Amino acid sequence: MKLYNTLSKKVEEFIPHDGNKVKMYTCGPTVYNFAHVGNLRTYIFEDVLEKGLEYLGYDVTRVMNITDVGHLTSDGDTGEDKMLKGAEREGKTVYEIADFYTKAFFEDFESLNIRKPAIVEKASDHIATYIKMIEKMLKDDYAYLSKGNVYFDISKAKDYYKLSGKNPDELLVGVRDTVEEDKAKRNPADFVLWFTLSKFEKQIMKWDSPWGVGYPGWHIECSGISYETLGEYLDIHCGGVDNIFPHHTNEIAQSEAFLGHKWCSYWCHGAHLNDKSGKMSKSKGEFLTLSLLKEKGYDPLCYRYFCLNSHYRNGLEFSYESLDIAKNAYNKLRNKVLSLNKTLEVDEKQKDEYIAKFKEAFSNDINTSLMLTVTYDVLKDDELNETTKWEIIKDFDKVLSLDLVVDNKKTVSKGLEKEILEKIELRNEAKKDKDFATADKIRDELLSKGIKLIDKREGTTYELI
Ligand code: AMP
Ligand code: ZN
Repeated sequence: MKLYNTLSKKVEEFIPHDGNKVKMYTCGPTVYNFAHVGNLRTYIFEDVLEKGLEYLGYDVTRVMNITDVGHLTSDGDTGEDKMLKGAEREGKTVYEIADFYTKAFFEDFESLNIRKPAIVEKASDHIATYIKMIEKMLKDDYAYLSKGNVYFDISKAKDYYKLSGKNPDELLVGVRDTVEEDKAKRNPADFVLWFTLSKFEKQIMKWDSPWGVGYPGWHIECSGISYETLGEYLDIHCGGVDNIFPHHTNEIAQSEAFLGHKWCSYWCHGAHLNDKSGKMSKSKGEFLTLSLLKEKGYDPLCYRYFCLNSHYRNGLEFSYESLDIAKNAYNKLRNKVLSLNKTLEVDEKQKDEYIAKFKEAFSNDINTSLMLTVTYDVLKDDELNETTKWEIIKDFDKVLSLDLVVDNKKTVSKGLEKEILEKIELRNEAKKDKDFATADKIRDELLSKGIKLIDKREGTTYELI
């Protein structure tokens, strides 16, 4: 298995710390709003990585945090807490906001066939661990207390910029330009481990600590949860490229200061999905959620297919035109697989040969587009009988998770179902009133979204096409 490691900036042979056991940590969502499809691109890449490693025979334990406290509107130490902002926006408590969006997040996972990580932990459930870690960092002089907050002193970290490869001088200009300088810091790039109420009075989630009532900085949650659930050594840590600095940089600084040794061997980062205007946003332009794509009639797995078609380290631009191309290709592929004859004898030797090719594509730094090409090669290969093709693709789908061998999988969300039933009702009324133009318009409108109405004697039903 070869993986690109952001730490070394090279594709490296993957060697876990403990035989075939892989400890994998993936940064989770800040649950103050829905995930956008860009966020979901990162989770799809992580899902393929986890399942692919298992396919190669590794025993993977994957952990994910849910950020329900501490992540400010800026990635630095200024701005409001994102959760608090979400709660104010919707007139709910932060707890209600967190529960609602966590649920929505995992519904997206289900729609995209992303497996929920074996261990999912809320940031707010591990306060005692952060306090223990911060106390040790203070004792060992990696951290200091200033004006009520506890800061990490980056000058004490071993090669603080090793992950980002950034130039500290350039960064300092950035810090000066973009945020108000925090005078309590020894070094402008130091970051907060623990905020106290003296600074953020509105904070609702707050805990007692040796330094006063307050709440943890954003970065400490991942160091803490990883340490508690996976121990002192981590094999793979993933996230989107925006996490490299400052989030993962600060995680390394804290974890290695606390542990006293190197912490994580491989850092894997997914490139962003952007829209035409550049960065994908939850506030500006069209907020691209998976539900929106569903409402527009896209099967979420078309989006998964769209993501798998490009390499996770390449930027990807979202457009409905490219999603339509992916949708057509995906539907064709699936229909072709579903039509295969499943009653012949499987040629195990041929199957093994293709599985080896598929594993090779995955092992080459998760080459998902090549994995799809191998899938098409199977379909095109005249030497294989149809059942052998079916069995090979069934195996590949353990990693691709495109429901290529699942018949009748098409279902709609509860919301969409309600909408379809209402439209059917409106159409029935229009027909009763002999307003056939309206009735046909409703039928065509649904058809354009991939929903075909079927009129039967006992009433109208629908089918997804
Ligand atoms: P957040 O909920 O903002 O903390 O982000 C959740 C995950 O999505 C993180 O791993 C981010 O690195 C990742 N992410 C954020 N924006 C994008 C994007 N446009 N494309 C891909 N991944 C993203
Ligand atoms: Zn994290």
